[in-house]
Amino acid sequence: MMARSRFAVALLVAVVVGAATSCSASDTQPSEATSTAAPATSAGPAVLTPVVADVVAAPIPVTGSDGLVHLAYELRLTNTGSQPATIASFQVTGDGRTLVDLSGDALTPWFQALGGGPKTGPVLAPGQEGLVWIDATVSSPHDVPGSLGHVLTVDFPQATSLVPARLTENVANTKVDNREAVRIRSPLDGPRWLDGTGCCTVSAHRAAVLPINGEMLAAERFAIDFVQLDEQGRIYVGDKTQLSSYRYYGAPVRAVADGTVIAVVGDLPEAVPGANPEGLTLPEYGGNHVVQDIGNGRFAFYAHLQPGSVDDISVGQDLRAGDQVGLLGNSGNTDAPHLHFHVMDGPDFLAANGVPFEFDSFQLDARVAGDSVDSAATAGAPVVDEPGTQTGERTGAMPLNLDVVTFPGG
Ligand SMILES: [Zn+2]
Repeated sequence: MMARSRFAVALLVAVVVGAATSCSASDTQPSEATSTAAPATSAGPAVLTPVVADVVAAPIPVTGSDGLVHLAYELRLTNTGSQPATIASFQVTGDGRTLVDLSGDALTPWFQALGGGPKTGPVLAPGQEGLVWIDATVSSPHDVPGSLGHVLTVDFPQATSLVPARLTENVANTKVDNREAVRIRSPLDGPRWLDGTGCCTVSAHRAAVLPINGEMLAAERFAIDFVQLDEQGRIYVGDKTQLSSYRYYGAPVRAVADGTVIAVVGDLPEAVPGANPEGLTLPEYGGNHVVQDIGNGRFAFYAHLQPGSVDDISVGQDLRAGDQVGLLGNSGNTDAPHLHFHVMDGPDFLAANGVPFEFDSFQLDARVAGDSVDSAATAGAPVVDEPGTQTGERTGAMPLNLDVVTFPGG
């Protein structure tokens, strides 16, 4: 299922929205002929594979609040052929196991053709590119495969002498990145913080695979928008266009690790809650923000902070874990006060790839229904818990989309 919660939209929403082509192979019966392309690493005979693929970035495993180890990454597909290509099924394999197996309607939420237009299913027009978002899970770190394979079953309207009407392709064999998710403290204190648009469904953050500086990058891959629910499970009480209606507005935002500040912006105005501001330039999307080098090629990004709340922070300053970075605000591309937090592999908050992180400790209080978050954000209704969630203490884990968590302190 694709969570719809978008109470506080991603820093940048995907420019890849929209979809496929009006061309359709749906009225064409696939032939029985099936051929299997050789894996790139195989010495087998060459096979024509009209759909080629690569990964945006190799996955780094991360333990989620569900206890599973997630490999969250994206596969970029290119239909090099002259016929539309319908992705009939998609599998991810690792060490002989099938980790993801999607076909038909189940694949649609995880697929997006580039270039706009209505979403009509996993179809690539001739020459078109698309993305498949992947959330492969295994039960423990010991079960993480060393490499991953991807199997596409692709349907074409017409068989040719080179390509059958149904083709099974092996594409984009990829090594798992063996770096560990960085272990950090939480950027907020206290109870009932809702993880909006977090990993690992195709949330607005994960969907934001963006063409930046000449390549496709996903800085927000693991980003979380945090809002704090009140005792009744509400995001705001009263007029939703008033900052004061959001009781957590102004909550202290804390450094997640020791590290040096490498960027600070603090003079952008607050936006009016209820809608995203228009006309922002790209650098303004993060609003008032701090970027902190937390070591080993990782950078923490704290965004949408209150104007003036970072006046005591300067580039070159060394922060200790737990130091106040600023105050939770509503500057930049935001429709309600929240903290946008992510960790990335470079100093620029968009020209980087998002990397996973695990918080030292938190309590999982609940997981809530995505529809109820929409109502909470737009109508002030309380969120609704999903039944069956295994709540309780977590150590060394990343909250997942729609989790409600209590952090130490506060
Ligand atoms: Zn965000």
